[in-house]
Amino acid sequence: MTDPVVIIGGGVMGSALAYWLTRLDPKLAVTVVERDPSYEFASSALSAASIRQQFTTAVNVRISQASIEFLRRAADELALGEEKPAIALREEGYLYLADAGGAAALRAAHSVQRAHGADVVLMDDAELAGAFAWLNTSDLALGSLGRSGEGWFDGYALLMAFARKARQQGARYVKAEVSSLEVDGSRVTGVLLSDGSRLACSCTVNAAGPWARRVAAMAGVDLPVFARRRTVYVIDCPVAMQPFPLMIDPSGFWIRPEGARYIAGFAPPDDADEPPLQPDYGAFEAELWRLLAHRIPAFETAKLERAWAGYFEMNRFDHNAILGLHSSLENLFFMNGFSGHGMQQAPIVGRAVAELILNGRFVTVDLAELLFARIEENRPLLEANVIG
Ligand SMILES: Cc1cc2nc3c(=O)[nH]c(=O)nc-3n(C[C@H](O)[C@H](O)[C@H](O)COP(=O)(O)OP(=O)(O)OC[C@H]3O[C@@H](n4cnc5c(N)ncnc54)[C@H](O)[C@@H]3O)c2cc1C
Repeated sequence: MTDPVVIIGGGVMGSALAYWLTRLDPKLAVTVVERDPSYEFASSALSAASIRQQFTTAVNVRISQASIEFLRRAADELALGEEKPAIALREEGYLYLADAGGAAALRAAHSVQRAHGADVVLMDDAELAGAFAWLNTSDLALGSLGRSGEGWFDGYALLMAFARKARQQGARYVKAEVSSLEVDGSRVTGVLLSDGSRLACSCTVNAAGPWARRVAAMAGVDLPVFARRRTVYVIDCPVAMQPFPLMIDPSGFWIRPEGARYIAGFAPPDDADEPPLQPDYGAFEAELWRLLAHRIPAFETAKLERAWAGYFEMNRFDHNAILGLHSSLENLFFMNGFSGHGMQQAPIVGRAVAELILNGRFVTVDLAELLFARIEENRPLLEANVIG
């Protein structure tokens, strides 16, 4: 390849890809086009950055197992000389809760996870009450706890670490907005920027996160990815509660510790496409407050401190990543539609897409089930565990 690989979007996906491309082929020219290097609205900067093994599709369990291994050694992998990035990984687990109606689905998901080696255990209501004294178990039937390989980390630090290491390995970051793509037959021949300039490319990659649908449309491809606003509420509760994993309530809300506070969120009932990125304070008062106080009685004394909002890049087709080529174009790669679980998948998806570009196939992790072809052939690979 003489012309560079042009990656559109320098969030955690684009930067993980730039890192892997320049690591696997140090001679390769890689250009990352990012319109906002402050990442003010990027999902990667607004993420809850948590990692779990508790998915319902085997491929997602496999990705998480590889990803946790990477995160554990990220400080060495992504070091710049002596300077080691601190991504602050905390393996405190995920706790999925089910009432009587949801217990069968939790057991089914558990079987998939165990079959793929995830370190998860089922707990009945008495075991839950014994392990988590702060939990109201009166209407619970079952819980599923991750004993290792699950927790949270500093997503912004991971993004920065990938971007810095990619640069050190030779990737070029350009601050610009991609306005259109030049397409000749089945090839993208150039990437056009809003300042009127043009970048030649050997191939290009859509890593535009919640805005990926627009980039796909520039090449005539219909990508079922939509920007859905998710508010993260920061809550102060004076009562000490230990241990406290990331908990997912049967009603759908999630909560986890964040330093001395807690962060929580849920999927709002009016889930519109691309609303303004302002936190939805009304939904906290109207919905979440009541659910939190029911599940965790100590939250009667808690107070909402602040909130922020970011976009999930929701794949409405089947809530899973969309990777690789669309049949109409031989050199436009996609890495989109992570539906709220992209931060944890970036280290592995970045490598997998780099392998696709360099070798024409997956080498270390087989993510064939996530290829774009399944959408063109109407074969959904439904992920049921989409949080909030
Ligand atoms: C509130 C919230 C909580 C989350 N919690 C978790 C979690 O716990 N665990 C987890 O794994 N994931 C979580 N996610 C999801 C995760 O953060 C995303 O899947 C991931 O960050 C997506 O990365 P990305 O690089 O694809 O997108 P982004 O980070 O959004 O990056 C895309 C970049 O593309 C740029 N761009 C777009 N269009 C153009 C253009 N035309 N020209 C130039 N640049 C362009 C944008 O400026 C942006 O910087 C959460 C997301 C949110 C919003």
